[in-house]
Amino acid sequence: MKKKTLIVANWKMNPGSAAEARALFNRTKQTGSRLERMETVICPPFPYLGLFARAATTRVFLGAQDVFWANSARATGEVSPEMLKDLGVSYCIVGHSERRALGETDDIVSKKLRAALAEGLIPIVCVGEKERDSGGHYFSTLKSQIAASFSGVTRAQVRDTVIAYEPLWAIGKSAREAAEPRAIREMSIFIRKVLSDLFGAEAAQFPRILYGGSAEEANTASILSEGDVSGLLVGHASLNAEGFGEMLKVANTFETLNSKL
Ligand code: PEP
Repeated sequence: MKKKTLIVANWKMNPGSAAEARALFNRTKQTGSRLERMETVICPPFPYLGLFARAATTRVFLGAQDVFWANSARATGEVSPEMLKDLGVSYCIVGHSERRALGETDDIVSKKLRAALAEGLIPIVCVGEKERDSGGHYFSTLKSQIAASFSGVTRAQVRDTVIAYEPLWAIGKSAREAAEPRAIREMSIFIRKVLSDLFGAEAAQFPRILYGGSAEEANTASILSEGDVSGLLVGHASLNAEGFGEMLKVANTFETLNSKL
């Protein structure tokens, strides 16, 4: 069975009330549930996860924006993989650049990734360079980020991971400032090569690679058709139910996937 196109809504620290969260979730779920050729993942802030604990379907899944690296620890303010699983969460974002900016290192990302996998959550590991230099150093930045974040992950486990390529310079802008599909394609091929060097060519075919960074309604089709990715991680555009619904509908028309299965 082929893996479906995956569109992930990262609401970040929005919306400001549970009532708004319910309305946004319900509208997104309504659209996502009708689309049979893709999967939608909604990642609300932690306080709202419980509202949607039993709302996941076979097409619309619940995701978390972060996770702690242990089920049992003195860790005030953290949320364990076990708690997420119990709430019906299937996916969790790990190592988002906004968390890395708050001090999360590759070592922490690696611990979170392994803890998520151990609990049966599907981790969406975010990687991406801060800027593009003319010497192409961003390739080695990405390579070392992937190698360090995936340290300790086994060949069998890597198959169940998702990697989001999110260049920091493209996040939170507009479709015009997003990475070009050709550049996304190049990075997707590079990420697959890094995975192949780390885990072998066979296992490296499985993880889905997503693009994130100002994906909006205007560039969804071009990224999905020319970017060689299996889907998108969407920030600000996922807060507008109507526009995001249109992105989901466009994604539903794509069958070209970049991962095996
Ligand atoms: C993100 O923060 O993961 C993201 C992709 O944000 P935006 O779509 O707003 O650039």
